[in-house]
Amino acid sequence: MGRGGGDRSGANRGSTGTEGGSVLPVPPGLVINLPNSDAYTRGVEYLRVMQTLVPEPAMVDVMSNLRDRTTICVWIGTHIWAVNETLQQCLLACHECFHVHQRRYITIYAVPLAQPYQLDGLCNISTNPTTILIDAGRVAPEHWLSIVAHEYAHAHLGSPGHDPRFARVLAHLCLGLGLQPPSAETEAGLRSHPPYIPTSDPLAFWRGETITVGR
Ligand SMILES: [Zn+2]
Repeated sequence: MGRGGGDRSGANRGSTGTEGGSVLPVPPGLVINLPNSDAYTRGVEYLRVMQTLVPEPAMVDVMSNLRDRTTICVWIGTHIWAVNETLQQCLLACHECFHVHQRRYITIYAVPLAQPYQLDGLCNISTNPTTILIDAGRVAPEHWLSIVAHEYAHAHLGSPGHDPRFARVLAHLCLGLGLQPPSAETEAGLRSHPPYIPTSDPLAFWRGETITVGR
């Protein structure tokens, strides 16, 4: 995991896996196509698939939230494709910063990440393709590109570290994307770069109480 004592609350990013570690295949059911199902069922299925992409299934714990799970699943079953399309555009913008032959095969999805992990996003380099997961509720939409760029740097390197190599890739991305490049190459500084203000109630987004993307 890419977090530790230097993390800022609400601005943590994680990445997992080790270089040369086992590569898990991404399940073919990832393109969730349940045209005759209701929004709730689609939401439940989406979360089930997301659970296969996180390093620990407990990282996606919506179904244990008895108060909000129905509301969240219906919202996901209705809106998640628009959210993911926006994240996909962020991913493509990152790809544009590299030559085609340098680009890795990366997929990206939005998912509510369990509160105890305090993660705004993570990059799972143990999956093939590499998976970036963004908790779109913990970060305001105008800052989604910032967190995608951070996780993209991990995905590009296939490494969870915040080392000088990471600093170079992130700086390259920031320049290409018009984001503020990292000023120092300290581990703590790189861990939460680019900076953004986390939302106060991450689940409000997933309950549909805040901005809806794609409208
Ligand atoms: Zn990181």
